[in-house]
Amino acid sequence: MYNPEAIAKAFAAAAEDRSKALALSVERKAAIEQQYPRMEAIARELSSIGASIAKTFYSEDPAKSIEALAAESLRLQEERKALLKSLDLPADYLEAQYHCPKCRDTGRVDGKICSCIRQRAVEISLAELARISPSGQCSFENFKLDYYRNLTDAAGKDVSEKAKANYDYLKAYSEDFSPASPSLYLFGKTGLGKTHLTLAAAGAIIKKGYNVVYGMAGVVFSDIEKEKFKGVEGKYTMQKLLDADLLILDDLGSEFHTSFSAAVAHNIIEGRLLAGKPMIITTNLDINGIHAQYGERIASRIIGEYVPIKFEGEDLRQLKKFQY
Ligand SMILES: [Zn+2]
Repeated sequence: MYNPEAIAKAFAAAAEDRSKALALSVERKAAIEQQYPRMEAIARELSSIGASIAKTFYSEDPAKSIEALAAESLRLQEERKALLKSLDLPADYLEAQYHCPKCRDTGRVDGKICSCIRQRAVEISLAELARISPSGQCSFENFKLDYYRNLTDAAGKDVSEKAKANYDYLKAYSEDFSPASPSLYLFGKTGLGKTHLTLAAAGAIIKKGYNVVYGMAGVVFSDIEKEKFKGVEGKYTMQKLLDADLLILDDLGSEFHTSFSAAVAHNIIEGRLLAGKPMIITTNLDINGIHAQYGERIASRIIGEYVPIKFEGEDLRQLKKFQY
């Protein structure tokens, strides 16, 4: 669950918020005490009450002394509140204003990771996904099924129903996602929405708290090549690809083809299957194309273990060009 790098970034962001909140509160206190000496006196009295309470344990009647001190402390706090009010400032003006009051931006409550860290990790992962994806922020909401109207396949058959079925399938897949979900093989011509729907699913699955790793096949393979031959760690490492709850390999077959890229594709697909973890492959290649480019073993893995989802129709990007 959750991308470990996003969790680390979320903790760093919370720590930054915490030090900002503390610094601001110190700054406000200093400014207001300088301007209003009574404020400084109140602060001094309050801290001396704290010290006195510690001493009451040695007094004859600790309970009675504490009661008196507590009443005095309350009176001073009320006075401070009234003073702030007279200055049109909120009662908690001098307190640290945490982004998350629950954990005071420490990221933990009773030793457990706070919900704000998970929330931040999701936001960080979504922003990262939008940054590296070829088409920015893709969702099911901004997927235009309208484009498929009047679109036909090679046999002249209307494809809009098939497009709607693909949309529905991916939406349901992301809603029901678990690490036991099946792997998907999305294939068809460029520009029919494979990447858009895949990214929409990725976003929805990230929001559920899963660690989703998305990569363009070419970038992933070149990172793995550098890792293997130069010992340089890029954005993608074999470990990260295998650890993710869901791995998305976008546009398989578009990369510069070498025997090494075929071997990497094989290792990733086999590794994920062995770990029992799902993967989504999008590609322009039909199964014959996969067979020709990556060989028998990958082709038979995809036939045997992946749910095929075919995208039909002419290139939507071409079509859009004519429309606008
Ligand atoms: Zn929190």
